[in-house]
Amino acid sequence: MFSTQTDKSSKKGLAILGSTGSIGTQALEVISRYPDYFDLQVITAQKNASLLVEQAKKYKPNCVVIGDESAYERVREELWKEDIQVYAGIDALSQVVTYQEVDTVLTALVGYAGLRPTIEAIKAGKTIALANKETLVVAGELIRDLAREHQVEIYPVDSEHSAIFQCLTGEFQNPIEKIYLTASGGPFRGWTRKQLEDVRPEQALKHPNWSMGAKITIDSATLMNKGLEVIEAKWLFDLKNEQIDVIVHPQSIIHSIVQFEDGSMKAQMGLPDMKLPIQYALTYPDRFPTNFPRFSFLDYPELTFEQPDREVFLNLDAAFEALKLGGTAACALNAANEVTVQSFLDHKISFLDIAEINCRVMEQTNFVQKPDYEAYVQVDSEARSLAKNYVEKAFS
Ligand code: NAD
Ligand code: MG
Repeated sequence: MFSTQTDKSSKKGLAILGSTGSIGTQALEVISRYPDYFDLQVITAQKNASLLVEQAKKYKPNCVVIGDESAYERVREELWKEDIQVYAGIDALSQVVTYQEVDTVLTALVGYAGLRPTIEAIKAGKTIALANKETLVVAGELIRDLAREHQVEIYPVDSEHSAIFQCLTGEFQNPIEKIYLTASGGPFRGWTRKQLEDVRPEQALKHPNWSMGAKITIDSATLMNKGLEVIEAKWLFDLKNEQIDVIVHPQSIIHSIVQFEDGSMKAQMGLPDMKLPIQYALTYPDRFPTNFPRFSFLDYPELTFEQPDREVFLNLDAAFEALKLGGTAACALNAANEVTVQSFLDHKISFLDIAEINCRVMEQTNFVQKPDYEAYVQVDSEARSLAKNYVEKAFS
């Protein structure tokens, strides 16, 4: 076991929002290897009370939050012997992130629900390890400005953004010319629209290189994930739209690339494993030793690259359009996408309907050029109901 610090008072206090998910469970694995460095304060889940209780007994945080209020009594009963506070409901997330013992908040929950707790954490001066890309998609400008105002660092967990961050480390004074976000292309790379007509959720849930939560897996199959990441990159690294490009790299070994003004390109590579970017976001600027499997060049004699097909995967185009429009466009697109992805998983709409509806909703939702928090909330809600109407029409 590797340990860097033994002084209890200097341990890093952590809150993990969404501890029962794909990122959350991997984060718990990562931090459990460094008990002298991390001090787990808070874990939260929306519905999975059994796993939350199991995690609480094993990792002994000071506090847990279960989003689903109907599970509160059960969680409280199961944890009554432990010295662990139990809260329920969505408002609790925004409170627990502000606790004095919390230094870093890992936002590993999915979707728009990440926005408010992230805002509260920043206002309380907490460092953010950001997995919840939707927060930056919905309200990137507001989050960036708030982080500046409160002098809060936002460290990326998303593998592409972690790659860029790793390439930039030691280079922060050097302007970026361009970044290339790599995309695996998902399970339907090279498919035609005709072939995509009958895609079922089970097929779309099989990602070739990564094992992730359902929402991001569908987003990867539609290329919406890459679109969301383009917008995420803009706000994380303060880029102009034309500085961001996407390249399909089916092997997912190069996680992204930065090009500097002298033409030099730096890429970060390794086997696809989220534990590394999770760990780096939590230990930056240090690198802790790991036993993660190592990449071998001879296992991958060919690393290949191709253009994404923006005519088949309309979501990627929609995200670039949202980037160009600015204001609340990406907020509307994200809200529509959360509704359509869930509706596709519920067998209510087809795979191609996802992007069709997303585009229509983005076009039709009221647009605010200079939104405040309330405007984002309003646009999110309007876009959701528009999307639901389209889903009902398609379903009936
Ligand atoms: P997941 O579905 O596996 O887990 C989501 C977690 O959030 C669960 O703990 C769940 O209980 C909680 N949650 C769900 N809805 C909630 C709500 N409304 N309010 C509060 N909590 C809620 O998702 P994931 O794959 O771990 O992804 C989490 C975030 O990280 C997403 O924003 C995703 O885009 C991003 N991300 C994930 C990966 C990955 O490999 N899984 C990679 C990069 C980025
Ligand atoms: Mg990613």
